[in-house]
Amino acid sequence: MGLASFKMAKTVLKSLFKKPATAMYPAVPREWTERTRGHVSIIEENCILCGICARKCPTNAISVDRKGKIWTINRMSCIQCESCVEACPKKCLAMAPSYTPPNVEKVTDVFEIPLPDKEKTEA
Ligand code: SF4
Ligand code: SF4
Repeated sequence: MGLASFKMAKTVLKSLFKKPATAMYPAVPREWTERTRGHVSIIEENCILCGICARKCPTNAISVDRKGKIWTINRMSCIQCESCVEACPKKCLAMAPSYTPPNVEKVTDVFEIPLPDKEKTEA
């Protein structure tokens, strides 16, 4: 047995008793690290529909319909840059750790914003 074969046999034997380097996904769900930029989440109650997030978004993933009280995000256009999160004056946006699941269609999430009175919009 040559030196190369000996080294290979040693590696194979070592690998047999080692923990696998890969995770058994999807049987074992992935654990997200604390700072993972997965998807943008919103606390609807705190949003004042000011539109700053939409203006800051480099990919136009967010749209704000002030009249209809609707906040919309096109998940497939979002590049997880976090600009909207940093710009929101009400701190109602955050980067949640899980990713939007793959889909054959563009996923758009629509949120109804409970903006009850005029005073809240001027806060
Ligand atoms: S910047 Fe914040 S408060 Fe303004 S519309 Fe976006 S999410 Fe709502
Ligand atoms: S994270 Fe970036 S790309 Fe995604 S919605 Fe916010 S500003 Fe737009």
